[in-house]
Amino acid sequence: MHSVGETYVRAVHEAGGVPVIVPPMLKDFDWHPLLLRLDALLLSGGEDIAPLHYGEGPESWLGGVDEERDASELGLVGQALDLQIPILGICRGHQLLNVVLGGTLYQDLTAQLPQALEHALVPGRPMESIAHSVTIEADSRLAGVLGGVEFGVNSAHHQSVRSPGEGLRVVARSEDGVVEALEIPDHPFCLSVQWHPEAMLKVNPTMEPLFRAFVQAAAEG
Ligand code: MN
Repeated sequence: MHSVGETYVRAVHEAGGVPVIVPPMLKDFDWHPLLLRLDALLLSGGEDIAPLHYGEGPESWLGGVDEERDASELGLVGQALDLQIPILGICRGHQLLNVVLGGTLYQDLTAQLPQALEHALVPGRPMESIAHSVTIEADSRLAGVLGGVEFGVNSAHHQSVRSPGEGLRVVARSEDGVVEALEIPDHPFCLSVQWHPEAMLKVNPTMEPLFRAFVQAAAEG
């Protein structure tokens, strides 16, 4: 079975896009013909990325990994960047974009950055609940899209961006300094967030403009 959370699919649909689900099991695949027929790429959340992709061995606190999905998505995102198609990365997708561009991750915030807030999903807390605030760089695309620089966001990650990859700008952080959003300044539309805007939509409209801007960029591409 290949599946993706309904909230991602619904978020794209409700913003006016046509969602197409791409199975992440195609290693060493030439994505180019498919990418030419897609208008944009949304990178969904999921497992940890195997640390070998950013030059590290696995530490004991690493979560589950999916080697086939890693290989598949790393190839897909690399080719999508070459084609400059719009990209929106969410959670794992945000970390994946960073790794494709040579950045590194904290394998576990609690172990490696103990002064950080609790960013993992606490048992019993709904996915859409606000967990912490983020401050966005005022001159970033993300601030322009969302129409502000301070937002409460949800949080369901135990890893985070450590050093940003080449060409990526850190455009949002939580109050503990954890990187919460990235973008490529000279790209038509390439941005990523560590939180889950698709899960916030059902209770909170603040992230609707992000999906509308993403679909708009896809339509213009
Ligand atoms: Mn967070």
